[in-house]
Amino acid sequence: MKKPTIPGLSKSRYLHGLQCPKYLWLETWHKELKNECDEPTEEILAQGHRVGAVAQGLFPGGIEIPYAGLTIEEQLQQTEEALKHNKVIYEASFQHNGVFVKADILRKVRGGWELYEVKSSKKLKDTYYDDLALQHYVITNAGIKITKAHLVHINTSYQRKGKLDPHQLFTITDLTKDIQQLQPAVKKQIATLKKMLSGTEPDMPIGPHCYEPYECQFTGHCWQDVPDEGSVFELAGKGADCYQLFHEGITKLKDISLERVKGKQHQQVEAAKKKQTIVNKQGLQEFLDTLSYPLCFLDFETFMEAVPSYDGQRPYQQMPFQFSLHIQKKPGAGCITMNIWHLPAEILERSFWTSY
Ligand code: SF4
Repeated sequence: MKKPTIPGLSKSRYLHGLQCPKYLWLETWHKELKNECDEPTEEILAQGHRVGAVAQGLFPGGIEIPYAGLTIEEQLQQTEEALKHNKVIYEASFQHNGVFVKADILRKVRGGWELYEVKSSKKLKDTYYDDLALQHYVITNAGIKITKAHLVHINTSYQRKGKLDPHQLFTITDLTKDIQQLQPAVKKQIATLKKMLSGTEPDMPIGPHCYEPYECQFTGHCWQDVPDEGSVFELAGKGADCYQLFHEGITKLKDISLERVKGKQHQQVEAAKKKQTIVNKQGLQEFLDTLSYPLCFLDFETFMEAVPSYDGQRPYQQMPFQFSLHIQKKPGAGCITMNIWHLPAEILERSFWTSY
């Protein structure tokens, strides 16, 4: 039987491979095992696009190499042309050694090009170094001199006043030195991942890497031996290592020896063994005794976004837009309910009272 062709690597596939070789292997050869409904939500995608679009305002007037509707070859050709005629390119595309990458922003400077990778996050994460290092490797080997490599992320201390200011909204960090140091490792990693892909499924036990730096899309497959309820992964707080217990064959809370757990974890295991709910009645009573009528029950809703839409708003600030307050005047009495909703950072526009 003819051996299937090993698909090339992209930035996301490379990063998946670094997170867990089995992740990349399954993604390549057994896509059907992917978790259902594991695609990023429209909201997350829309936020990413918005951040990307606003970041382009850091270096306006560039040309964009689209992804949708173009083959890889066409994207590479369009990039080649753009490199000849443009000073700023968004989503420039490059390929080398079977790895395809798109660079968020390339800016022409004396002696070469500056690379900018844009992230919606509030701070630098380790995985961004690998991301940028791979881009640097591919672009440089495709014949383009990168003079500097930057990471662009959200500056949470920015407060919008009037027109959105991309120079205030983003923090730009120069990671050139770190990225250059990572170049030999990138080359080695690519070779390792390619070799791994041509072999059989890697034997990789589940571990914290299933959720770090991002949740893997094959947890449904690899975690199928974890019980849906009462598993060791429900252990609260620090103490016994759930992964160690699981790999020892202890999958349920009730099977953990009480000597191995302390504090809250001890309580959990004890409750699971006795099939009992433990209620700290004395603690509850002590809390209830501190309350006095009228009792007020407050519920509220908030939203947050990377790119502030309103004046006075900061990136990722929790913005309350609705609350309801239920007031009980005396024991056994019905509640008076007050609902108020308003647009963020604006004076309350509407309010209404209901009572029942
Ligand atoms: S679920 Fe965990 S072990 Fe399985 S492929 Fe993903 S990261 Fe690897």
